[in-house]
Amino acid sequence: MPCDGATQTGAVNDVTIIGGGVIGCAIARELTRYRLDVVLLEAEVEVGFGTSKSNSGIIHGGHHTKPGSLKSELAWAGNQRWVTLAEELGFGFRRNGDLTVAFDDADLATLEQIVQYGSDRGIPGVDMWTPEQIRRMEPNLNPDIVGAVVGPTAGVVNPYEACFALIECAVANGLELRVSAPVTAIERDEDGFLVTAGGETVRTRTIVNAAGLYAERVARMVGLLEPTIRGRKGEEYLLDKRLEGIVQRTIFPCPTPNSKGILVIPTFDGTIMVGPTAQPVEDLEDLATTPEGSNAVFTQARRLVPGISERDCIAEFAGIRAVASRDDFVIGPTAVPGFFNVAGIQSPGLTAAPAIAEMVAEMLGEDGLDLSLRPEFRGTMPRPVHVASLPIEELAALAEEDRRYSHVVCRCELVTEAEIDEAILRGARTLDGLKFRTRAGMGRCQGGFCTSRCMQLLAQAADTDMTAITKRGPGTWVVMQPDQLEPEPA
Ligand SMILES: Cc1cc2nc3c(=O)[nH]c(=O)nc-3n(C[C@H](O)[C@H](O)[C@H](O)COP(=O)(O)OP(=O)(O)OC[C@H]3O[C@@H](n4cnc5c(N)ncnc54)[C@H](O)[C@@H]3O)c2cc1C
Repeated sequence: MPCDGATQTGAVNDVTIIGGGVIGCAIARELTRYRLDVVLLEAEVEVGFGTSKSNSGIIHGGHHTKPGSLKSELAWAGNQRWVTLAEELGFGFRRNGDLTVAFDDADLATLEQIVQYGSDRGIPGVDMWTPEQIRRMEPNLNPDIVGAVVGPTAGVVNPYEACFALIECAVANGLELRVSAPVTAIERDEDGFLVTAGGETVRTRTIVNAAGLYAERVARMVGLLEPTIRGRKGEEYLLDKRLEGIVQRTIFPCPTPNSKGILVIPTFDGTIMVGPTAQPVEDLEDLATTPEGSNAVFTQARRLVPGISERDCIAEFAGIRAVASRDDFVIGPTAVPGFFNVAGIQSPGLTAAPAIAEMVAEMLGEDGLDLSLRPEFRGTMPRPVHVASLPIEELAALAEEDRRYSHVVCRCELVTEAEIDEAILRGARTLDGLKFRTRAGMGRCQGGFCTSRCMQLLAQAADTDMTAITKRGPGTWVVMQPDQLEPEPA
């Protein structure tokens, strides 16, 4: 739900958040609890289109990491917020638990350490399972597995739904959201900062730099040399729903000092996902999947669950983790008064997001912002209707009231015209925006059937024609007029 009205250049707002990934969106919602004027500037056409849309969607259980680092503390704190957040904001979350498996004695020793981390942190239910328990509870795992740690606090979330719900809630509570607003310059002035974004200027007292992979670039705009951010790419592969139920819990191999390894993830929506790889990259826009990545993912996933095959792959994507040089989250004030970094939010940043948001609010309060609560803050959002999950009687009743619930747009995922229209009303502007809100185009045929109808509905709502509709913003048109095409080289 972008707010098209521009902030008056003369007015100085309290906080400007740069970046609308899950971190910026969570901070935005948290800050709208207070009597503050808050603006969020996002470079992309919709929020959540950076790393936050391309991850494994796991809410980590908190037991995998040694207590002590900021990321491990915030992950466990964040984990405990997701049930309430999902109930309040109506997005998909399930506490399915995880299982970290051992193939030999050396692995078993590492697993003992994981149990110890869980107990040091007071995480309930982290325990060792015998091979018999494993076979009973997860019969499709490799029979060579000799033991496993169960972590009942882990979960899976629909990460883009979470971003959309957080931002909708923030906008409903007074946030000014500006999309297609890349920040290109920041100057100091007597009130704080002048931020140039998308050709307009915003005056603000405080800046929260939540620009993900580009947090280093934004920090440099105010003369800071830290943080330095490097990219670490992760390739993920989604499998056909035929495999739904092959595992109940997220399956981890025994971790090494450098990696959590390749996982088998039962996503919130029922598809199985395998990945991610962890490959350093120079080019922060390099989202290509590779034969080497695919080979590594399927070989390692099959070692955990032998029934997994490349033949079931229906989609693949990559995301890039923003890794700071100190290999931990970088959250805090800087040498520039009023400028705060929330950077280097690599995995498990999604898990930690609600706790990071609370930490940032507290930090801004300590810096002198008035954190008086707004009594009119409304923290809940209606859950969007997902016809595919309704009993047939409920669907029939809905269709009786509104015929659009009987017009199926996406056959693979059973998404109706009414759901597409609602997603557009709630802010979808692109095909990806529709897909992430409704699942239209996410099934076996990957949009082969529904893309043109989705484009029609988007074009109708915007009173434009289909050549204006993009997959995810400028440069990603699906159909073109002849004059939009590049001229053939002579
Ligand atoms: C493959 C992979 C798997 C992962 N799996 C998990 C997992 O299972 N669980 C978990 O907890 N974490 C996971 N993570 C980590 C998680 O995805 C990230 O920690 C989280 O998404 C980071 O969110 P963010 O808001 O910091 O970054 P982003 O989502 O990248 O948001 C930053 C935003 O800033 C915007 N921006 C950049 N520059 C500017 C500018 N100049 N002006 C305005 N806007 C700007 C970008 O467009 C972007 O939308 C995974 C990551 C990857 C890559």
